[in-house]
Amino acid sequence: MLSDQDRIFTNIYGMKDRSLAGARKRGHWDNTAGLIANGRDWVVEQVKASGLRGRGGAGFPTGLKWSFMPKESDGRPHYLVVNADESEPGTCKDREIMRHDPHTLIEGCLIAGFGMGAHTGYIYIRGEFIREREALQAAIDECYDAGLLGKNAAGSGWDFDLYLHHGAGAYICGEETALLESLEGRKGMPRLKPPFPANTGLYGAPTTVNNVESIAVTPTILRRGPDWFSQFGRPNNAGTKLFAISGHVNNPCVVEESMSITLRELLDTHCGGVRGGWDNLKAVIPGGSSVQLLPKDLCDEAIMDFDWLREQSSGLGTAAVIVMDQSTDIIKAIARLSHFYKHESCGQCTPCREGTGWMMRVMDRLVTGEAEIEEIDMLFDVTKQVEGHTICALGDAAAWPIQGLIRHYREEIEDRIKAKKTGRKGAMAAE
Ligand code: SF4
Repeated sequence: MLSDQDRIFTNIYGMKDRSLAGARKRGHWDNTAGLIANGRDWVVEQVKASGLRGRGGAGFPTGLKWSFMPKESDGRPHYLVVNADESEPGTCKDREIMRHDPHTLIEGCLIAGFGMGAHTGYIYIRGEFIREREALQAAIDECYDAGLLGKNAAGSGWDFDLYLHHGAGAYICGEETALLESLEGRKGMPRLKPPFPANTGLYGAPTTVNNVESIAVTPTILRRGPDWFSQFGRPNNAGTKLFAISGHVNNPCVVEESMSITLRELLDTHCGGVRGGWDNLKAVIPGGSSVQLLPKDLCDEAIMDFDWLREQSSGLGTAAVIVMDQSTDIIKAIARLSHFYKHESCGQCTPCREGTGWMMRVMDRLVTGEAEIEEIDMLFDVTKQVEGHTICALGDAAAWPIQGLIRHYREEIEDRIKAKKTGRKGAMAAE
């Protein structure tokens, strides 16, 4: 188990003082100017060396992403944009940072902004996050009053302004280019890439979009050193990570743990175990709703990191772990997700606009068993036609949960269809 001394987020449960004075007592904003004095290249190299991979879902190396920003400005400003739109079902980790430990994020913005040559940062916060916005804005105001933001921020010689922008509550605005469109005042519709934001991002200027947690951990990484951070987790999966565990566990929680912890240890140590005991487990969605689920036999050996989960055709995603016990109607659970993705599709590209609705309607029929067995393969085939054929990853996100269901629970789906035809009870959908 990760020791308290190695936790970056020391107020994730809001039990301590979240104000600037409280944050300073816990070691934040300590010699920030000294870190910045090491230079822009040093900041980027340290983050690269730490092995930090983006905490928003894709797991792209953070330092490498920063290094894509132009070294010299061609006259256009550089922007840091923080993606605080956290809307993936099951995911609720960034909100804990923003409402209880906001100074980790703000200090991270200054350092990351410096690292990519940006004098301006925007935090795009999810529309439903009212209290989080208030807490974060209060913390930003405190920083301006204390000289930690604005001209010569924190006495570093670097000017840095930070703005908090409140979204309107659309899932698609968590996609980085849709987020930029929304920030510019347009409908949140993803852009075709290339050009990538590091070249042409916000207002057509070089921009890097990072997740809240990725930015919030960087000051501590620089203070304690990349070797400290990379000692946690398996190679290529470094660091500590916030896990958000929900569903059928005794104590759902958000907890910072070492990467590559086993699923079983995570649930047993921090969540009081699966409801009814480990053998009562049916399946887990390990990375927010958009990845393939893991059935119980894979859960037995599951390692919670990017590489192991990818090897199972699943993913760590946002590390939002949704636990389902034997009482779960697994077909209905995945059908519910299909409704979500259909609702949140921006409608811009045909495979997603039409495919999400089509998949949802077939899923609904699989829930009641009013389908033909052949339709299972047809549905799988449609998910493959959507996957990888859309402008943004929402198409994939809609396809993968269904693929996981069919891969691991085909028998259960078939059984329900047969039961419907014969009128047999027992395999019918849960009410
Ligand atoms: Fe919009 Fe879906 Fe296409 Fe993404 S994949 S751009 S959400 S229609």
